[in-house]
Amino acid sequence: MRRDEFMKMARRRRLDQTLVSDEANVMALTGIRCDNAVVTKDAFYTDFRYLPMVRRFAPQGLAARDIRRLAGAMPRRAGSRIGYEASIPHSRFLELKKLAPRATFVDISKDIAALRAVKTGDEIAAIRAAAVLNCEIWKEARTRFAPGMTERDMARIIQTLMAERGDGEAFSTIVCVGANAAECHHEPDGTVWNGREPVLVDMGVKLNGVCSDMTRNIVPPRARPIYRKVYDLVLQANRAAVAAARPGMTAKALDKVARDVIRAGGFGRCFGHSLGHGVGYEIHEAPAVSKRGDMVLREGMVFTIEPGVYLEGNLGVRIEDLVLLTGNGCEVLSEGD
Ligand code: ZN
Ligand code: ZN
Repeated sequence: MRRDEFMKMARRRRLDQTLVSDEANVMALTGIRCDNAVVTKDAFYTDFRYLPMVRRFAPQGLAARDIRRLAGAMPRRAGSRIGYEASIPHSRFLELKKLAPRATFVDISKDIAALRAVKTGDEIAAIRAAAVLNCEIWKEARTRFAPGMTERDMARIIQTLMAERGDGEAFSTIVCVGANAAECHHEPDGTVWNGREPVLVDMGVKLNGVCSDMTRNIVPPRARPIYRKVYDLVLQANRAAVAAARPGMTAKALDKVARDVIRAGGFGRCFGHSLGHGVGYEIHEAPAVSKRGDMVLREGMVFTIEPGVYLEGNLGVRIEDLVLLTGNGCEVLSEGD
């Protein structure tokens, strides 16, 4: 299905050939994970380690071929157009370029990113399962958190559960005690939790090749009024964006919904990052749900909604959910507090 869309894109961009080798892109186009692949319009080139698997599992219309014979797939005519990903290592690009010195290389990274942004049924099922597991791990982990533990101790609890029940972390788990949460990508350190401070946890388990992503906060019963105020505002922004998300709107229009809530609450300058990002084979993919994100949201897209407010040296709150865009709104895949 995505391959049909890909071929349509190749026709639209008048490509004589395509050379796709980024691992996540290869996975998205063929369902095969392979770190040494070049996917052309009609063949999957790889080395002997993967050829038997490719022969068995490649989608219809893609022949399995030895990557040493890739030169034979190159268009000979001067001015031929070859679609490639500008994101691949430069050394790899030079190798490909050498095989087709007279061709024009056309960057199709964005086209593939747009195709990947709309998930297939199988991908949605896999991401849903990862998100459910992520919530379960969070619930389990927080019962094991205890005063006296360091951020590193708490991160390790999560990492261990992720390794036991899933395929490990989709990204480095973030645990922030108190004011450390003001740093968006704080690395867990030796800061000790006294049990009375808030804790921010940003975590995502990987499961069956796909990622999940969620941020939760332990709100102490006797939190400071400023923390309460900020927490309620961020929650309100999160809920407003969840309620507003629907197909047909641009990513930036959705970003604005949450940003307006935070601005109206008086903390506009303390929300320095974008509202969200797509999640799939990679933890950050299209669509970018940001001030400048002009991609139109479509049914089947999976992305995060993660407004935050950060007051340096004081506090930080981010509430992040993973959502699936449906026909007329969105479904939150990361349920519960
Ligand atoms: Zn996150
Ligand atoms: Zn995120």
